[in-house]
Amino acid sequence: MKKEVSKATICVQGGWKPKNGESRVLPIYQSTTFKYDSSEKMARLFDLEDEGYFYTRLANPTNDAVASKIAELEGGVGAILTSSGQAANFYAVFNICQAGDHMVCSSTIYGGTFNLFAVTMKKLGIECTFVNSDTSEEELDKAFQPNTKAMFGETISNPSIDVLDIEKFARVAHKHGVPLIVDNTFATPINCRPFEWGADIVTHSTTKYMDGHATSVGGAVVDSGNFDWDAHAEKFPGLTTPDESYHGLTYTKAFGKNAYIVKITAQLMRDLGSIPSPHNSFLLNLGLETLHLRVPRHCENALKVAQWLEANPNVKWVNYCGLKSSKYYELAQKYLPNGSCGVVAFGIKGSREEAVEFMDKLKMIAIVTHVADARTCVLHPASHTHRQMSDEQLIAAGVAPDLIRLSVGIEDANDIIGDLEQALESFKK
Ligand SMILES: *Cc1c(COP(=O)(O)O)cnc(C)c1O
Repeated sequence: MKKEVSKATICVQGGWKPKNGESRVLPIYQSTTFKYDSSEKMARLFDLEDEGYFYTRLANPTNDAVASKIAELEGGVGAILTSSGQAANFYAVFNICQAGDHMVCSSTIYGGTFNLFAVTMKKLGIECTFVNSDTSEEELDKAFQPNTKAMFGETISNPSIDVLDIEKFARVAHKHGVPLIVDNTFATPINCRPFEWGADIVTHSTTKYMDGHATSVGGAVVDSGNFDWDAHAEKFPGLTTPDESYHGLTYTKAFGKNAYIVKITAQLMRDLGSIPSPHNSFLLNLGLETLHLRVPRHCENALKVAQWLEANPNVKWVNYCGLKSSKYYELAQKYLPNGSCGVVAFGIKGSREEAVEFMDKLKMIAIVTHVADARTCVLHPASHTHRQMSDEQLIAAGVAPDLIRLSVGIEDANDIIGDLEQALESFKK
């Protein structure tokens, strides 16, 4: 009986499969262009009739090998890398939405994605209704319109650490004949595979745990291959009717289960061009080779830190879905039984200014915009990433004005706690 390959093995060996005599390590094809002996062969590539490389904006062997490792980790049929997580979420939606369309999105999402959907997509004529992801299916139903084309949420939201009830969202999306897109950045496929719970498309900011060393900004879109575009053909004409910019080719007819990713590649990448450099994809692959070792350590450290914070009298509240006190504990047990992520949110007793003062007293833990890499870091969303939001928007996004986002790294947990302790100690009046 063939056993499914474990995620650990995919992390180390997935993607690049060297042939006899080829480089054991993923090579960097740092080339814009690929050479052919006949113009006939090139022409067939341009018509998408043959497989092969001709220009790195459309496809590159290094980028493709890393994309296929991520597809395999998520259990999808295909994936494409993008130059950032922002580009991944934009492409995932824009591949199936156009002016006049509408989408439904959980309100507790990353601030950058909120801006993309609420402001920039709106300028392109795509409207988004934000919903409280904890409400009932009946309430979620009310957000749908005849022109709704997608539903969106984050497995674990950044920075509020809410856990998405993926099965509930998938049921509602499918009832309305649209795919569920899940941003799986914080959980990573090591802790959760949204496809196993009914999600159709998964996105990533690979900038975070996947890279893990804070070296490269990047993103990925992965397709489960499960959504039946032809069953809802009238909603998705871009996939189910001829593409005039590709000689009248129809993606679902020509590419079946791969239609969605081929369309992103052949149309959106061709026209918008947010590709990663092959060198960055090489670095991302180095990160992926240890993802299965790093993620459990992040979770173990974060739980220790969260428990310590919860027991500290100077701490007002702690939100970590691995804590029994979290309102997302049950959902986390269901979707993330082996651990959630390394990010902990908390507030200290004192004013908003004192929260900033506390952060300034930290020594080893650095104040950075980044999150989810090997080094422990801290951020105050209300004064940094979310500073363009009003107080009402902050609260709707699940970001309390006193929320401190602590991204717990893979150092020794006692050293992380020691630094928090000295900062809280000197802050105490
Ligand atoms: C960081 C992040 C993004 C945006 O990714 P970039 O790589 O910074 O463009 C999107 N979604 C989530 C959940 C993130 O944490």
